[in-house]
Amino acid sequence: MGKSLRLTRIRNIDVKAHPTFLLALLWVIYYWGYAAGHGVQGVLFGVFILIAAFVSVVGHELAHCFVALRLGLKVHDITLLPIGGVARIEYVSLTPRQEIAIALAGPFLNLMVAGLLSPVIIGILVVRDFGDALSAFLVLQETGFSALIVHLWLVNVLLALFNLLPAFPMDGGRVMRAGFSMIWGRLQATKVAVLLGQGLAISLLLGGILLRDVSLPMVAAFILIAAYVEARMVHLENAMRTLPVGQFVLWDLGGVQPDSPLNYALRGGVRDVAVTVNGTVVGMLWQEAVHPLLNSASKLRVRDVMDTDVLTMDVDDSVYDVHRQMLTTGRPAIPITENGIYRGIFTTDRLIHVYRYLQSGKSPRERYRGFVEALGLAGR
Ligand SMILES: [Zn+2]
Repeated sequence: MGKSLRLTRIRNIDVKAHPTFLLALLWVIYYWGYAAGHGVQGVLFGVFILIAAFVSVVGHELAHCFVALRLGLKVHDITLLPIGGVARIEYVSLTPRQEIAIALAGPFLNLMVAGLLSPVIIGILVVRDFGDALSAFLVLQETGFSALIVHLWLVNVLLALFNLLPAFPMDGGRVMRAGFSMIWGRLQATKVAVLLGQGLAISLLLGGILLRDVSLPMVAAFILIAAYVEARMVHLENAMRTLPVGQFVLWDLGGVQPDSPLNYALRGGVRDVAVTVNGTVVGMLWQEAVHPLLNSASKLRVRDVMDTDVLTMDVDDSVYDVHRQMLTTGRPAIPITENGIYRGIFTTDRLIHVYRYLQSGKSPRERYRGFVEALGLAGR
C-alpha cells in the first residue's frame, strides 16, 4: 500500500504506517496542545494517547492475522491509516464459519482489553469519589495517568463497537456476509453487505455535515472505497469460476525432456517450463532454480535441476481453481493437461489476459453498468 513506513515486524508480519498516519499526529498536536489548552504537556499526553490507540489498533489487526495464520492463510502486512488499520490477508476460499472466526477475533481482543481495564476504571472512580459514571468522563479532560487509562478503555470499546457495525467493510459486515452467504451465495451476500456499508457511509457523511466534523466524511470515504474494492473482487472471483483455464493457457509444444541439456531447454529465455516424457508431465523446471546455475548450464541436464513434485490441472478446471492452487501451493505456474497429456502452462502473468478478457467487448456504458452492479446498486 504505497510508500508506507515499516515500524516493526511481529511473527513475520510487517506493521507499517501509511504517510497519512501523520495527519493523526498533527491532529493530536493541534487538539491537545492548542485546542484543549494544555500546551507542551498536552502535546506529550496526546502522543501517549495516540500510542495507546495505535497499540489497540495493531492488537485488533494482529488478532485477525493470528486466527488467519492458524487457518493456514498467508498474511502479508498490517498498514495503519489515520482512521484504523488494514491487515492484508490472502483470503483463499474459506468456509463461512472460518470467515466469521477471523472477523470476530479483532473486536474480541478489544473487548477483552476493555474488560481487563474495567476493574482499574472502577478503582479510579472509587478513589476519585465520582458520584456517577457520567462524571467519570470529566477525567477525559485531564492529562494524567487516570485519563490515559480511561482513554485506552474508551478506544478499545469504540474500536469493538465500530467494527461490529453490520456493514461492509467492517468486521460486523464480514460476519453478516458470511451468514448470508450460507443462504444466498457469496455474490448476493456481498451485494447486501456492501449496500448496508454504503448506507452507513451516507449516514456518516450527513452526520459529518450536521456536526461540522471532518473525520466522519473521511471514514465514509474509506468505507465506500473498501466496499467497492471488495464488491469488485467478489465479482471477478465469480466470473473466474465460470472460465475454463484451457482458454488462457500458454500453448506449448510439449515442454522439455529430462535428458535434454539444460542450456537447450533454456533457449528462448529462462522461464518456468514443464518437463515431459511422452506427453506426461514428470516435473517442472523453475526459473528460480535455474538462475543460479546459468554458468554451468552446458554441463547439466534438465533432470539434475527439475522439481519432481508434480501438480497438474485439467483444461476444463476453472481459472479460479487453478489460481487458488497457485496461491495455496506457492507455485508461480501450473502445467495444464487434457486427458492426462500436457497441453500448456498457466502462469501468474496469464491472469492479466483473464482480466482483459472479462473487460473486453464491453462498451463504456456496459462497463459503467458493471461498475454499478459491482457496487451492488442495481438489482437483478
Ligand atoms: Zn477488524
